[in-house]
Parts: sequence; structure tokens; C-alpha cells
Amino acid sequence: MIMRIGIDLGGTKIEGIALDEKGRELLRRRVATPVGDYQATVAAIAALVRDIEQQTGQRGTVGVGTPGAVSRATGRIKNSNSVCLIGQPLGEDLAALLARPVRLANDANCFALSEATDGAAADAETVFGVIIGTGTGGGIVVRGHVLEGPNTIAGEWGHNPLPWPRDAERPGPACYCGKNGCIETFLSGPGLARDHAQETGQTLAAAEIAQRAEQGDAVCNATLERYEDRLARALASVINILDPDVIVLGGGLSNIARLYRNVARLWGIYVFSDRVDTRLLQAKYGDASGVRGAAWLWNDRP
Ligand SMILES: [Zn+2]
Repeated sequence: MIMRIGIDLGGTKIEGIALDEKGRELLRRRVATPVGDYQATVAAIAALVRDIEQQTGQRGTVGVGTPGAVSRATGRIKNSNSVCLIGQPLGEDLAALLARPVRLANDANCFALSEATDGAAADAETVFGVIIGTGTGGGIVVRGHVLEGPNTIAGEWGHNPLPWPRDAERPGPACYCGKNGCIETFLSGPGLARDHAQETGQTLAAAEIAQRAEQGDAVCNATLERYEDRLARALASVINILDPDVIVLGGGLSNIARLYRNVARLWGIYVFSDRVDTRLLQAKYGDASGVRGAAWLWNDRP
């Protein structure tokens, strides 16, 4: 009997899950993240693992999904929006505390791995997983394994420029990364809200814009049409390079049902192929995919 423990380290909460051999959830626990305190964060993760093992009476493998990425060169966290993690050897510290190897991966990679393992893309060879929410993340899974790359940024498309920009999209909104017109500035929830405010003078959250469009509001519908065309362009450039079997969407904006119809129709304009057989699917496990994917980081020989 193999138990896999997954930990999703978030900005406000740390979630832990235990999966049995077949991926069935044994239990799930959640604690608050000790914000801004690295040592306390490490201790909280270790305590969560011990709690899960006590409850289940089993010892498990441990995988952790983190914001940011683990540098291959140094083993330390980089690119994280949880600033207290940056430069810290999280994997090493957890391994020492838990007396076993611990695998770490970026949270978008965990999302993609979860959906590729037993989620919406379970039958697919190559999967691009996209999180469109407060930010935009991406991860690539090939034949059941996360593709990391030497810089551990494979799939990180959010800070590429929006492709095939219209004149009105140049230079594009300023991004926190220091550039303008990044995909994230258009396709994140705040990006959608900003675009709507700019075009209409109306301040609405992304979910509300989607809801009003659904109810026939013409102005909100136009905002969603711009969004769909941008998402189609951004994904077409991924298809042109990776040519994945499936693109899975997660995060808050992935709940907008019309995206799956409209984006998959529009991206044909931009993909360099006479037909596009890539499927665009909604995540099966929703918000639970991050923590499940962290557990699946040990999907070879635990
Ligand atoms: Zn950027």
C-alpha cells in the first residue's frame, strides 16, 4: 500500500492531501500560512505531514507545490510571489525535518501533472496546463512527467508578450516583471477587469463581467470577446511550439463555459496548420488539482 502526500503551499493557506495508490483521497487538511515567516512555514508543512500520517496510520511520500520555481543550479526557490521563500532551500530543509527526500515543483506544474495523471487530460501524451486566475501560470507534462527544463521555467508563458498584438494593445499594460504587454496583464482576472474598465469606465470583477455577459449584457459580452481572442492568440503560440494533445484550463476564469467553444474556434486563425486537433478542456479537479499534483510528483517508484 502506497500513500502519497501532497502539499500545496499557498499565499494564505497550506493544504495537505493523502492519496492512496489509485489516487483516491484519504483525507485533506488545511492550515493558515505563517505569512512572511520562512522558518514557521517549514515547520507548519512538516507538522501537516505528521498530522496526516498520524490520522492515516501510514507513512507517505511527500511532494510540495510552491509558488515560484526551484532553481536547478542552487536548489533554492526563485520567482516566488511569496517573498519570504526566495533564496531558501525549502526542499532540503523539509527533507531534513521529515527524514526523507521531498520533491518540489511549481504550483502550475503540479496543476498540469494532476490533470494529466487522472484528470481531464488523463489519456493525453502531451499536456499544457494553464492557470488563469489572479495571475497566469503554465506547466507542461509529457508522458506523465513534468517537463522542467534547465531553468525550471518550462511552460511559463505568462510573461511572454501577447502575440499578434493589435495597435491598441501596444505597448500594453505595465507588468510587475518590468515589461509591458505580458500575456498575464491581459489574461489574468485583474487583467480582464482592467481591460473592461479601460474600454467602458465600468469597474467590475472578472467573475461579474462573465456573469453579466451570460445574461446578455452587450458591453460585457464585447469584453469577453476581446478576452477570447487574446486567449486564442496566446494558446495558438503554444500550440505552434509544443503542439500538445490537450490544453487544460484551471483557476477562477476557467469556469467561464463559453471559453471552451469560442477559443477553440478562434485559435485556428493563428495556428500554423490546416486543422487543429488539440482539445481545450476544463480542469477536472478544479482548485484541488494543485495539491493532488504535488502528491503525484512521486508517480514513478515511491
Ligand atoms: Zn510580465
